[in-house]
Amino acid sequence: MNNSQNILRLNVGFVLHQTVGYKRDFLIEYPHVHLPPDLDLYNLSGTAWVTRVTNGLLLQVELGAQITAECARCLESLSQPLEINFAEVYTFKQDSAIESGQVVPEDGVIDLQPLVREEMLLTIPINPLCSPDCIGLCPVCGGNRNVEPCSHKEHPGDPRLSVLKTLLKGG
Ligand SMILES: [Zn+2]
Ligand SMILES: [Zn+2]
Repeated sequence: MNNSQNILRLNVGFVLHQTVGYKRDFLIEYPHVHLPPDLDLYNLSGTAWVTRVTNGLLLQVELGAQITAECARCLESLSQPLEINFAEVYTFKQDSAIESGQVVPEDGVIDLQPLVREEMLLTIPINPLCSPDCIGLCPVCGGNRNVEPCSHKEHPGDPRLSVLKTLLKGG
């Protein structure tokens, strides 16, 4: 595993001394990145572009990665691909009119970790599936029906109906 202190930190100090319009690309390629506290990205790869603009720097990021997730239907672990694409403007302190915006870091290092973490978390599907036609676990015996079909019916009787049936029988 990579040292998380150094990865996804872009040394952009030199871009500040370039003329407006100068653009530099940073290739990003890591087999495994752990973003504290709980996000593990596999095969993280893509590009970050840093452009010198009039009031600071423009950062554009395009990244793909995979995470390990659990299928919402059968609970098997799966590899979920994620794609992110975002841009951020870093303004010089004295020019920062927008209070909510990012400020050019004084040490000239842009730390992508919190941004990548946030963007990746936003793209994680709520119900990941191992396959679009995963048939999931049997609600009766709990077996994985993708692996071993069981004899239980697809939809066990509606409990309200069985109450009705009982009442009818009793009457
Ligand atoms: Zn599944
Ligand atoms: Zn079953």
